[in-house]
Amino acid sequence: MLTIKCAACRRKLWKYLKKGHGEVLRCHKERITKTYETNEHDAKIWCLCGKPIGIDKGTYFSMVKGNFTYAGTKENKS
Ligand SMILES: [Zn+2]
Repeated sequence: MLTIKCAACRRKLWKYLKKGHGEVLRCHKERITKTYETNEHDAKIWCLCGKPIGIDKGTYFSMVKGNFTYAGTKENKS
């Protein structure tokens, strides 16, 4: 489980079940297990500090590189 955080203010944004290796480029909504306080408007998801974190693509968020960090473990089972 990964905890996605804002790179600017370090606020926790959501918890995410990542599958596979590699960078977090997308967050599939069905694998977001907990959401903290965020704003959603203009087809983006925003940190409360005003940073855009991801672009809403329907079933997933396309993550904005450099605007978020994450910590935790990745699930490598397929
Ligand atoms: Zn922030």
